[in-house]
Amino acid sequence: MCKVLTLLYHRVNNLKHDKHLLAVTPDNFYKQLMFLKEHYPIVRFEEDWNNLREDAVCITFDDGYMDNFTNALPILQELEIPATVFVATGNVDSSEEFWWDELERILLDRQRNYDSTFTLEDELFSCQWPTETFADREELYDTLHWLMHGKIAVSKRKAWMRQLQSWSKAGNMGRKQNQAMQTEKIEELPSLLTVGAHTVNHPSLKSLSKQDQEYEISQSIKDLETLLKRRITVFSYPFGTAEDFDKTTIDLCRKENICKVAANIPGLWTPRCSDYEIPRNIIRNWNIEEYIQKIEELWKMG
Ligand SMILES: [Zn+2]
Repeated sequence: MCKVLTLLYHRVNNLKHDKHLLAVTPDNFYKQLMFLKEHYPIVRFEEDWNNLREDAVCITFDDGYMDNFTNALPILQELEIPATVFVATGNVDSSEEFWWDELERILLDRQRNYDSTFTLEDELFSCQWPTETFADREELYDTLHWLMHGKIAVSKRKAWMRQLQSWSKAGNMGRKQNQAMQTEKIEELPSLLTVGAHTVNHPSLKSLSKQDQEYEISQSIKDLETLLKRRITVFSYPFGTAEDFDKTTIDLCRKENICKVAANIPGLWTPRCSDYEIPRNIIRNWNIEEYIQKIEELWKMG
């Protein structure tokens, strides 16, 4: 019985600050992929894996950062390695950053002078936080990140972001380095890259009403189908842990004719796995020695 090791990348970039450890440097990425190419067959996410003759690796990217196009794609093309990019469509063509980056831009800028407190106005969560020191603001970041991840609606998240932007005077123009892929880049992606959906606003789906889950899933599929003029058949759950999706989410994906969904739960795919919970394994900016060791450990998972 063959197994597939699916890897979860987010960004290929040289970042000065990478709070969530999402970026792999282009140099490490190149070496990581060289190693994979030399050692394993590499399969596409949307392929039927039931008839594989040997164990294989599958490469995926979540979110749809522009650096997937500028930095990862040339390496994938040079090595002729296919991959799947799951795009959160709300950020396509937007000058704003993904919400976790936006929060970081607003709160954790070491060059900016901040007021000594931030007061959040909200009918349920009104609160005042100290913001004088970097540590204060990191604490506020963590609290807001936790609330925005799965405790409040997307509309509220956006309203809070406006409050933070105006309080910090940071405006709403995102940093170029953290940009999402634009329409023209998605259209230009070669067939080596499969595009999958990843919701519109990147919420933790399980926390939403069925109606809101349906909007996030179906609208992101529609957005991409309009843009690419072809069917979208694969999806990945934002955040992707067992806490971030539920049976409703799976039923909705099925209803939208999605045939395979990537989770963010470590493990190896076997023919016994559900097509709606494909295990994936997060890759960090490991140098090649660390990477080889990690990949070997991942294969030992069973
Ligand atoms: Zn994501």
